[in-house]
Amino acid sequence: MKFHAIAIDGPAASGKSTLARTLAERLGLVMVNSGAMYRAVTWKILREEIDPADTAAVIRLLDGMDIHCGHEGSVSNIRIDGTDPTPFLREPEINANVSTVSAIPQVRERLVALQRDYLKRTHVVMEGRDIGSVVFPDTPFKIYIDADPTVRDERRSGEGEIDSVSQRDAADSSRKTAPLMVADGATKLDTSALTISGVVDAAIGILGKQGFPLPQHLPAEEPPTPMRWIYWLGWMSFGAAYRTLFGLRVIGNENLIKAGPVLIASNHQSFLDPPLIGNLYQTEMVYFARKTLFKGFGKWLYPQWNAIPIDQDKPDTSSMKAAIRKLKEGWRVLVFPEGQRTLDGSINEAAPGIGMIAAKAGVPIQPVRIFGADKALPRGSGKISFARITVKVGPPILLTPEEFKAYSNKEGYLALTERIMDGIKAL
Ligand code: C5P
Repeated sequence: MKFHAIAIDGPAASGKSTLARTLAERLGLVMVNSGAMYRAVTWKILREEIDPADTAAVIRLLDGMDIHCGHEGSVSNIRIDGTDPTPFLREPEINANVSTVSAIPQVRERLVALQRDYLKRTHVVMEGRDIGSVVFPDTPFKIYIDADPTVRDERRSGEGEIDSVSQRDAADSSRKTAPLMVADGATKLDTSALTISGVVDAAIGILGKQGFPLPQHLPAEEPPTPMRWIYWLGWMSFGAAYRTLFGLRVIGNENLIKAGPVLIASNHQSFLDPPLIGNLYQTEMVYFARKTLFKGFGKWLYPQWNAIPIDQDKPDTSSMKAAIRKLKEGWRVLVFPEGQRTLDGSINEAAPGIGMIAAKAGVPIQPVRIFGADKALPRGSGKISFARITVKVGPPILLTPEEFKAYSNKEGYLALTERIMDGIKAL
C-alpha cells in the first residue's frame, strides 16, 4: 500500500499545528508535529545540562539517545530514553534554544529518518519547516502557510507563551541545513485574516486541486449543459451590462466548482446580486425570488429563470424543500443566507436555513462574496451609480459523511451556517 503524505510548512505560530490536527481528523491521517521532535531533543539536552551551542557534546549525547516515535489515534507521540517529554515542550528555555539545536545537521539527519518512517506505516499530515523540501520532496500535497508577524506574535502571547517568534524565524530561515522555505510545488496560504475553519476549508480546497483523494469528491469537470435561449438572453444581457456599467471583476475564478450540484452561498447587497452570481457560471442555476414578483409578466418570466418563490416574511419551508430537491437533482442553487440585503455593506446575521439546506442536500458548498453592489444600487434608493463591483469566489467547503451526520440536527444547522458565513467573511 502506498501511503499519502501532506506536507505543511511555515514559520512559527502560522497555524500549522491546528490545521494539521484538523486535517488529520477530517481526512483520517496521522498528524505528526515535527517541531515537537526538535523540541524533545532540545529538552533532553537541557536536562542533561549540555550547552546547545556545544555541537560536539550534543552529537555525543544524540548518539546514545533512544528516540521512539509513534502515534495514538490520529496524533503522533514521542519518548526519549523512555520518558514522554510532551508536558515540557513549550517552556521558554526550549523556545529559546530549539533553533540552535535544529540547525545541527546530525540532529536533523536522525529526526528526518524517523519522520520518513511514519510513511511506511500510515498516511500522514506532517507539519514543520522542511517537510515539503527535505522530508517528503516527492509528495504532490504541499501547503506553505503564513501569517503577518504581528498576528503570529499575538497568537503566541494569547496562548500565554513566552516565545520570540521573529528570532526563531530568522534563525530557521537562515540556517545552512534545510532552512525554512516555500518548497517546490507548494501552494501558499495566508492565514492572517482567516478563522480556523476558514483555513481548513481553504487547505482542503488546495489539496483537492493538488489531487488529494478527498472524502467528498468534486466531480470531474464536464462541458456545461447549454442554456435555454430565454435564460441565456438574461444571462448575457446582465453580464454585458455589469461589465460595462460596473467594471465587474471576478477574483478566485479557479475556485469555481465546474460540475455537479453546488450550493452557492453569497452575502446580499442589492437587487443586482442574483444575475451577478449567475454570471460566474456557464450553466443555468436556480435562484430564490420574493413571492410578490410572481405577478403578471413576472409570473411567466421568473420561472423561466429558474426562480423559486420565497416568502420573506416568515420561514418558508416549502421553498427550502424545493432548494434541497433541486440540489439533489444536480442543480446549482444560489442562496443569500442573510435573507435581507445589507444597508451599510456589512454582513448581517444569517438565518439557519442555509445550514439546513446544506446538511440535507449533502452537496459541495461554494462561498462567494460581493463587494460594491451596495454602492452601485443601494437598498431603498432605486438609483444606479457607476461603482465598481467585485466578486470573490472562495474555495469549496467539502464535508465528510461524518460531518454531514453531525450537522443533521438543529444545533448542527446553526454550526454549519456559521461555518458557511465564516467562508464568506474570509473572502
Ligand atoms: O513548529 P515548532 O515551532 O514547534 O518548531 C520548533 C522549532 O523546531 C522551530 O523553530 C525549528 O527550529 C525547528 N524545526 C525544524 N524543522 C522542522 C520543524 C521544526 O527545524 N521540520
